[in-house]
Amino acid sequence: MVGALALAALASTGAGCGRAHVFYDARELRHPPLQPSRDRALDQELAGKLGGRPVLWVDAEGKERTLAGDAQSLRALGTAERGALWLALQGGERGGESDVRVRVTGKGSIPVTVEQGLDGALRVVSARRGGRDDDGDALSEEAFRERFKLRGRLPGNWHENERRALTEALALLAPGELELVRRIVWDREGRARNGDESRAALYEMKGCRAVIYLYSSGVRADRFRFVGEPSAPKSAVTHAIVHEIGHAFEQAAARRAYCASEKAGARAGALIDEGNRLSERGPVLDEYLRVLAGLPAPTDYGNASSHESFAESFALFHVDPAALLRTRPAVHAWFAAGAHLRALGALDD
Ligand SMILES: [Zn+2]
Repeated sequence: MVGALALAALASTGAGCGRAHVFYDARELRHPPLQPSRDRALDQELAGKLGGRPVLWVDAEGKERTLAGDAQSLRALGTAERGALWLALQGGERGGESDVRVRVTGKGSIPVTVEQGLDGALRVVSARRGGRDDDGDALSEEAFRERFKLRGRLPGNWHENERRALTEALALLAPGELELVRRIVWDREGRARNGDESRAALYEMKGCRAVIYLYSSGVRADRFRFVGEPSAPKSAVTHAIVHEIGHAFEQAAARRAYCASEKAGARAGALIDEGNRLSERGPVLDEYLRVLAGLPAPTDYGNASSHESFAESFALFHVDPAALLRTRPAVHAWFAAGAHLRALGALDD
């Protein structure tokens, strides 16, 4: 037996190189359910991993206390907090914030946040007593369309979890962002075309037309992480959906040019060129990169490209603003001031 827990299917990251910037760790820390009867064994292992580092714990009353990093002091923590700390120390990285749904035998899954400073300082945040960990509204399709005044289609039969995730995502948007989403076509498929079972959504631009696909298989694969605060945890699928809305937002100027080209007759070619240029780097992305000032994206996934960086920052600003404030405060301030909406300009019909 290697440890009190086993981590399964954890993506490996660049080994050995230390981080220079704090980040939001969006990886799933998969694990079998913890047995409260094994708490003592877990304390011993945790103490070994901590090597004397203290743990700052924000408990269920919101009170902060510092626990010495020894097995005796760790007994103050619940099984879920111990498990989250263990998982973050095993699978997370310095500088990261992990929002973990810890599975505990007989208690279901319990949301706990673990933050690691670049210097290794540890902060564990429990859900507040009386916090809300329900599943939110699952509106009927009709009620959903009415509430958000969607013009686009919602084809197919939407599963309750899909409607719930979509409702949660759209409820987070500002009016100007929602206005843009109303023009999007939503579609659903059983699974992602590339076979990725963990992918929950995808933005696709076909000229003037924007489609966001929701993948049922990805919507179901939502078990080991959450986003937001542990006292009001949001689904990781909501993160995925708002990320794709971020792409749709950032590409709106390009779509506007493509749409104009369809009615432009002789000027169509010039407008298509303009759309191509804007899809590479439009006004929103341009300003975002200026504000980001050369820093990495707030999540590792966001480092794939400047477009992914924007989509991840856009998503975090909505689903976990405290995480964006912690990781990229200037970007948080930019969104909070509505500068991304101004960069896009007014959208005409
Ligand atoms: Zn993306």
